[in-house]
Amino acid sequence: MGAASLLLPLTAIPAATAADVGAAARQLDALLDRDYPALEALYKDLHAHPELAMQEVRTAKLLADHLRKAGFAVTEKVGTTGVVGVMRNGDGPTILVRADMDALPMEEKTGLAWASKVRATYEGRETPVMHACGHDTHVAYLVGVARSLAALRDSWSGTVVLIGQPAEEALGGARAMLDDGLLTRFPRPDFGFAAHVTNLPAGSVVVKAGATSSASDSYAITFHGRGGHGSMPSATIDPIPIAARFVTDVQTVVSREKDPGAFGVLTIGAINAGSAPNIIPDTAEVKVNLRSHADDVRLLLKNGTVRAAKAAAQMGNAPEPTVAYLGGTGALINDHAMAAAGAAVLKPVFGAGLVFAPSTTPPMSASEDFSEFVEAGVPSLYFVIGGYDPAALAALKAKGEAVPTNHSPFFAPSPEPAIRNAVKAIVLSIIGGVRPDGEPRP
Ligand SMILES: [Zn+2]
Ligand SMILES: [Zn+2]
Repeated sequence: MGAASLLLPLTAIPAATAADVGAAARQLDALLDRDYPALEALYKDLHAHPELAMQEVRTAKLLADHLRKAGFAVTEKVGTTGVVGVMRNGDGPTILVRADMDALPMEEKTGLAWASKVRATYEGRETPVMHACGHDTHVAYLVGVARSLAALRDSWSGTVVLIGQPAEEALGGARAMLDDGLLTRFPRPDFGFAAHVTNLPAGSVVVKAGATSSASDSYAITFHGRGGHGSMPSATIDPIPIAARFVTDVQTVVSREKDPGAFGVLTIGAINAGSAPNIIPDTAEVKVNLRSHADDVRLLLKNGTVRAAKAAAQMGNAPEPTVAYLGGTGALINDHAMAAAGAAVLKPVFGAGLVFAPSTTPPMSASEDFSEFVEAGVPSLYFVIGGYDPAALAALKAKGEAVPTNHSPFFAPSPEPAIRNAVKAIVLSIIGGVRPDGEPRP
């Protein structure tokens, strides 16, 4: 298939193009039979050597080397540790493919032969580190995408920009790459793809139209008081009861102000104040995390939180609290036309495993800063890839045990279906011409 077929609206793939995708799928399977052992070796190496957000130095180097070997022009240290690989292959759209690279500050308990024993510094403290979100399989699939697109260059046309993104878990990596000129120093992507492994059964590929993950916003609220002796509260302004009042009062923003049918979560993740029983401290700090899907709920939670904080301070006759935004990201919205076209192209490839979730179905409560690229003007399709062997899932069920989720110390997806199916979903979407084309929404 040449460049011309990339211009077709993919929701109505002509039979010849569908046959081309079928032929490409068979070629890709053969390529993956050849390449998979190297991709698994890379995954195991990364799993054994996880790196925290913005510390992905070794991971980035390995990725850069692999992309160069696959024939890509590679730039390192974009947004601290980000990697950008570009391949030009004639006329056609510029397509972004993103994998995140970072691991989590937690101890691995999977018992895998290649389990991590790595320790690193996180917020000033030493911590064990684990790839508990599958980003090791993501880096491996990006290398698989690179090698496959290079080998199948007669089947697609355009420019591909592959990126290894730092700090997805901390939700700052996408922003860091954008701020470092991702869209200006490199060919500007017309649209993009990404994939994330989960504990769904291996073989499943979920294509969700519309909202796919939640917005996440974190705030640090500092209540200012006037410290003093524990025996003389009237000579002080005690910030601790002010913070305590805020923690309970702010819950009504969700329980009383938000539409009960709309998704919204408010979590107080940290309270820090004081040192000794007989000292009234100067300040009390409360950290709040807000999750939402809709923009109006996102604003309501933010405004309600700030208002409850100010009211609690006023009630305590204290100065206005300081509200600092710690960071976050918007909801990830999959392009509707790309989701419909992607489902159409991939249905024959994955059969019953391909699940199309319309925009009316609820998105994940988790967040994902791939949304930053979408908000920066790169309409995209983000696949959710099943990574758990159905037999392993059945065995857990028989024992009455829960399936480990992402971020569990036991999270251990099967690398082969996770990596191969992510490569297939992305490469065949590119070859199949999946793109935002203004088709009607499903
Ligand atoms: Zn994660
Ligand atoms: Zn993740």
